Amino acid sequence: MTNILFAAGPELWADYETPLRRALDATGLDYTLGCDAAPETVDYIVYAPGSKLQDFAPYTRLKAVMNLWAGVEKITGNPTLTAPLTRMVDDEGLTQGMVEYVTGHVLRHHLGMDAHIVNPEHAWEPNVPPLSRERPVTVLGLGALGQACAGMLAHLGFPVTGWSRTEKQVERVTCFHGDDGLSRALADAQIVVLLLPDTPATRNLLDADRLARLPWGAVIVNPGRGPLIDDDALLAALDAGQIAHATLDTFRTEPLPADHPFWAHPKVTVTPHIASETRVDSAARVIAANIRRGEDGEPLLHLVDRDAGY
Ligand code: NDP
Repeated sequence: MTNILFAAGPELWADYETPLRRALDATGLDYTLGCDAAPETVDYIVYAPGSKLQDFAPYTRLKAVMNLWAGVEKITGNPTLTAPLTRMVDDEGLTQGMVEYVTGHVLRHHLGMDAHIVNPEHAWEPNVPPLSRERPVTVLGLGALGQACAGMLAHLGFPVTGWSRTEKQVERVTCFHGDDGLSRALADAQIVVLLLPDTPATRNLLDADRLARLPWGAVIVNPGRGPLIDDDALLAALDAGQIAHATLDTFRTEPLPADHPFWAHPKVTVTPHIASETRVDSAARVIAANIRRGEDGEPLLHLVDRDAGY
């Protein structure tokens, strides 16, 4: 009998219990699933940041912790967790949602939609936007989400450049990697999309120096993580005109504090961490399939590299 502890909190349990049972039943696994269990009897933990469970040491038989979200920065540093950690990947809802968010916000800026949506003077100013093929876009992070977004933007005709830690080949995307590749990835980017994880290596990646390397008037879309950008440097670059607009979905502190300058800044769009959400049914299937793999002795999918932090 495989013992699965749902430790992602009571609100998520209400959403996930039925879909998880349905998905686990479909795998044919003999299992128990609940929110309480004696720690030494637990095989797998379904987890979400914010869970009360922080000390994994008593879970002596643990085979894996399965994070419901894609981002794992709140758990990778937990010294009591020695069992394998997986994260949410391949949830078609999560990927589709991110592609829609990124495409929508890139097109908003590319087409200059704001000038028509808010036009109190009823100005007739026929500024025709360039075609997508004249608007280079750079996607920082070429993982599951970055590749899907880069692919859609390339499909729409944008010249897309991508950047990752290790070397990548992605169809229709000019790929750079590593520290040397970053300058080249930023050099022509009129729109920059951040889809990197929050790790010690990516924190403050877009600082004053790197923001200054972008073409004048570049736009930033950040559904990745707040700490990827130096807030003060971004505000200064917006005020100077170096950056024309920033659409931000993720922040160092969430919810974004009421007095944070981003809220009132005319060149910042704040969205409340809604770029993409793990969708219950598809996420339940991903978790169940991975537990089945574990029980069948197959390598778990979507393992987090604890040293790299993602
Ligand atoms: P992945 O782990 O699949 O991809 C991460 C990408 O970032 C990889 O291409 C990786 O490079 C690259 N990367 C990591 N560290 C570095 C570095 N130091 N230098 C250069 N590149 C680096 O993640 P996902 O695509 O699934 O998700 C990306 C992020 O999106 C998540 O970590 C999360 O923070 C955020 N997110 C936000 C959501 C929202 O609603 N706002 C929802 C879901 C996710 P390599 O390929 O070489 O490993």
